[in-house]
Amino acid sequence: MPTYQYACNACEHEFEAFQSFSDASLTQCPECKGEIRKVYSAVGVVFKGSGFYKTDSVNKKSVSEPAKATPPAPAAPAAKAD
Ligand SMILES: [Zn+2]
Repeated sequence: MPTYQYACNACEHEFEAFQSFSDASLTQCPECKGEIRKVYSAVGVVFKGSGFYKTDSVNKKSVSEPAKATPPAPAAPAAKAD
């Protein structure tokens, strides 16, 4: 059962609602009957700021130019002995 986090636009009341996919989304705050919004938490998606980019640039600098792969020699047609 998915859990949805809601926050009220009017009174900032926050609450979680357990809803099945068939249930309609909640639109009213249980506290003040005001308009609510869904809150999406970014659990599982963590960006570690500038460190990510720092590491990225270091990797680019330390990586030497990759050797050019020699194209495979064209298959020589088998010379007929006769
Ligand atoms: Zn409210």
